[in-house]
Amino acid sequence: MIYIITGGPATGKGTRSDILAKALGIAHISTGEILREVAKTNSEIKDKLSKGELISDEIITDLLRDRLKKDDCKKGFILDGYPRTLNQIYLLNNLLDEMGRKIDKVIELTAPDELVFKRILERKSCSKCGRMYGIDFPPKNPEICDDCGGKLEIRTDDTKETLQARINTYKENSKEILKYYKDCGLLLTVDSSGHPENIVKEALED
Ligand code: AMP
Repeated sequence: MIYIITGGPATGKGTRSDILAKALGIAHISTGEILREVAKTNSEIKDKLSKGELISDEIITDLLRDRLKKDDCKKGFILDGYPRTLNQIYLLNNLLDEMGRKIDKVIELTAPDELVFKRILERKSCSKCGRMYGIDFPPKNPEICDDCGGKLEIRTDDTKETLQARINTYKENSKEILKYYKDCGLLLTVDSSGHPENIVKEALED
């Protein structure tokens, strides 16, 4: 089972991917998460992420290829944040061909701009275990992780200025991606203003 989840920044991709992955017993693969991990030891990637710039198709596809080989992807996976360009669609098609697999559905999440800004400016993650918190799932203590007691941090690219750049990049690149998957008959558009748990029912509907 292979799902792609797409949508602009803070349309709830991460939260909904997690919920859906758990419900279906498949892996949640976020290319943003993979890159934030790499950025801890790679200053070039760190710099690009903090500016909201896209990482090269080659680098991100190589990282993805390695990740999809892991055991937890055997039953299926949800791709969150990839593909982001038309070229990445073709690279993904090749990658899936190599693996003898195919995409079941592409879910596009939409949300009003005001909600996106509110979500993004309140979003935090744990510096130790990576758990995400936001308006739908706030931490008990605003500075400390409920699970491991780690310090909560705001993502370095979660600022008003970077957000605008990321929204613009998404709008520019998404049109052809959405058209491609719509033409393939794989696209499902979901309004993500509602409760995150709704995604399970919405994703399984045709
Ligand atoms: P996200 O967590 O999906 O919002 O991604 C955070 C940042 O990681 C983006 O603003 C990009 O700089 C980078 N990134 C994530 N996925 C990709 C991708 N598929 N291609 C290029 N850059 C990516």
